[in-house]
Amino acid sequence: MNNLQLMRTQVLQQIQQACQLAQREPNTVQLLAVSKTHPSEALREMYVTGQRAFGENYLQEALDKMQALSDLEIEWHFIGHVQRNKTKHLAEKFAWVHGVDRLIIAERLSNQRDAQQVSLNICLQVNIDAQDTKDGCQPSEVAELVRQISQLPHLKLRGLMVIPAPDHPQAFQDAKQLFDAVKAQHAQPEDWDTLSMGMSGDLNAAIAAGSTMVRIGTALFGARDYSKA
Ligand SMILES: *Cc1c(COP(=O)(O)O)cnc(C)c1O
Repeated sequence: MNNLQLMRTQVLQQIQQACQLAQREPNTVQLLAVSKTHPSEALREMYVTGQRAFGENYLQEALDKMQALSDLEIEWHFIGHVQRNKTKHLAEKFAWVHGVDRLIIAERLSNQRDAQQVSLNICLQVNIDAQDTKDGCQPSEVAELVRQISQLPHLKLRGLMVIPAPDHPQAFQDAKQLFDAVKAQHAQPEDWDTLSMGMSGDLNAAIAAGSTMVRIGTALFGARDYSKA
């Protein structure tokens, strides 16, 4: 096995073990490979091991990789901060956008999604642990945003995305509670199936709390070198 294959196998085993501990089926947690700062050759190598879903944070970097890897059937996820003036490329090129936290962003993505394409999958980002950040809506805003966003035509609102501060595992349980509360009230619960939470350092706690998609970079590709990005 080459190195990336070994790392992916280890991460998949860790997911499986976390699922067992939580008495969950292993196929209820998807692995999103977070490839920011890594060159397209690394993504290609990871693809060969069977990985299909890749997450990127920076638009231009992602667009360059999409071009270099256009022969592969990658499912592209945007997991970075969504800037209002960058929604067009997100709407056109990605399968998923995880960082939606305002109605105006969702409206732009819906308007800019080609009606011929399948709907753009969306996760609503929530600032679940009251961090001092502009990213993520407040938990109290979620119900209304879900109501509004689920009426937009070219989007499919799939669930919530959170990035809690390290050493704050309770936040995963709070996110799960919010996720379930929306599911119980929402008019179209069949689309509401994704709780995007857990990274290399905290995937066990996230899976124990109910994550359905872990976003893993370092444990799959090794440490990031931002000086080359
Ligand atoms: C970079 C990043 C990750 C991956 O983090 P690792 O600790 O390297 O696994 C996950 N989610 C988001 C939103 C990120 O920006």
